Amino acid sequence: MNGLPLESRGIPGAGVKYSRALLKVSGEALKGERPYGVDSKAVSFIAQQIKEAVELGVELGLVVGAGNWWRGKEASVQGMDRATADYAGMLATIINALALQDALEREGITTRTQTAFAVQAVAEPYIRRRAIRHLEKGRVVILAAGTGSPYMTTDTAAGLRAVELGAEVLLMSKYKVDGVYDSDPRVNLQAKKFDHITYMEALNLRLDVMDTTALSLCMDNRLPIVVFDMYIAGSLTRILKGESLGTLITDGAGQE
Ligand code: UDP
Repeated sequence: MNGLPLESRGIPGAGVKYSRALLKVSGEALKGERPYGVDSKAVSFIAQQIKEAVELGVELGLVVGAGNWWRGKEASVQGMDRATADYAGMLATIINALALQDALEREGITTRTQTAFAVQAVAEPYIRRRAIRHLEKGRVVILAAGTGSPYMTTDTAAGLRAVELGAEVLLMSKYKVDGVYDSDPRVNLQAKKFDHITYMEALNLRLDVMDTTALSLCMDNRLPIVVFDMYIAGSLTRILKGESLGTLITDGAGQE
């Protein structure tokens, strides 16, 4: 069965700039205003935005974070073995994936959740060619458990999956930050927003927008990145249709 009934799905690739995209949904985006965990209103809002994107005919993969529950580094600072703490973080992404899966299915979207290591009672294992087949059928593929390896982040997982699944863009959704700034706009009211920045500039500025492993992976594979605020309703679909929203990160050499 396809992700949406045929009459409500767009023709894949028609009228959109990107026909296959990878969206990173951070744990922070799922917690909304709550101190931790999952806020049902926030998840429903995200599901609604994703539904609108799917209705355009865009093939969409999602990589979910887990910062709303757990960060391996923070647990290791308190004495926990780092690799074990990271595996706990990867397990926490699966909780988020199930929350997102549930919200999307309630919107009438067919999803498949795949995990980087086997958790067979709740999800399929990540199999690249199977994930691509799901995308071709209009299913939203939720990719959980990060890369499956400790010492990594879900930003890196997002870059990796975007490249291997042939996504045309990596969409880094942020919570109430609408792009890349020269300093933290939540702290510095004078912070300047970039509409377009190169990978190298982003790396040199060591910005808090995504980790450097993820950025350099995208740079090596010339994968455009758009950093944007998902909480502005409609911004996901506007970007997919080609509007310049948020900050575009490319090599700056004719890559748009
Ligand atoms: N993690 C990991 N390997 C990965 C992805 C994630 O070890 O490939 C662990 C790591 O401990 C991380 C946690 O999972 O702190 C949650 O992921 P992340 O911090 O990227 O979530 P986000 O900030 O996007 O919500």
